[in-house]
Amino acid sequence: MKIVKKSNEIKTILKKYQSYGFVPTMGALHEGHKSLIRKCKKQNKITVVSIFLNPKQFTNKEDLKKYPSNIKKDISICKSLKVDFLFIPSFKEVYSFKTKKLKYPIITNIMEAKYRPGHFIGVIKVIDKLVSIVPAKKMYLGEKDYQQIKVISDYLKINKKNIKIIKCNTIRYKSGLAISSRNKRLNNKGLFNASKIINFVKKFKKNNQNKIFNQKKLKNLLDSKKIKYDYIENINFKKFIRSNKISKNTKLFIAYYVNNIRLIDNI
Ligand code: AMP
Repeated sequence: MKIVKKSNEIKTILKKYQSYGFVPTMGALHEGHKSLIRKCKKQNKITVVSIFLNPKQFTNKEDLKKYPSNIKKDISICKSLKVDFLFIPSFKEVYSFKTKKLKYPIITNIMEAKYRPGHFIGVIKVIDKLVSIVPAKKMYLGEKDYQQIKVISDYLKINKKNIKIIKCNTIRYKSGLAISSRNKRLNNKGLFNASKIINFVKKFKKNNQNKIFNQKKLKNLLDSKKIKYDYIENINFKKFIRSNKISKNTKLFIAYYVNNIRLIDNI
């Protein structure tokens, strides 16, 4: 595995290869990231992983400060997975890289866009830089951040970037809780409570399959359990719009808090 820190260097190296897969991450790597990397390894001769904690997508400074980065561990994980190139740029390397004029897609003001204003603008800014530096044919993204996939996919379309998004399943603990870098800030009790919330949403979905989505009832149930949340929405994930029926084309999207740690998931 070669570690590269300079944008121009990785760009020049990659020119030698016809195609390669790309897994962008913010580090603090866990089983979720590992599954993306494994999928990329399976589908491509060459795998490029980036680790860049993008300050522009953090709407809360404390959240950025407390991000559980561990670069040494990340490097060793990437090595063990036989990543070919690990790109670890600085802020300057990313943002001073010259790119074409960026067109922003329309970002519907729901869920993460509503509760974290500016977040997706930050995501687009960094993705625009990263895919210019690493112009892969395939980019691996996790369904845990489904709305992010939608926004990036619209960005790629509108900017005529010939990159295919490979969606990867959400990896969960046995308890049902989605693995997330932010989980590292929870103790066992917190992890248990987070799993309980997710399993409750799962059960609600199962019990209401093919029925009208009663958001008020679900919100009341969450309130009665003293669960703190920003939103709970039933979204048709093909069209990415709200749906009033729970079906095989919809997922329940939730942003909730455990011990003041904000977690998101879609079931
Ligand atoms: P992040 O480092 O949080 O920016 O995540 C990098 C990529 O890993 C994103 O495409 C995420 O959606 C994906 N990811 C994060 N957690 C999981 C998970 N539990 N299962 C699958 N993919 C994940």
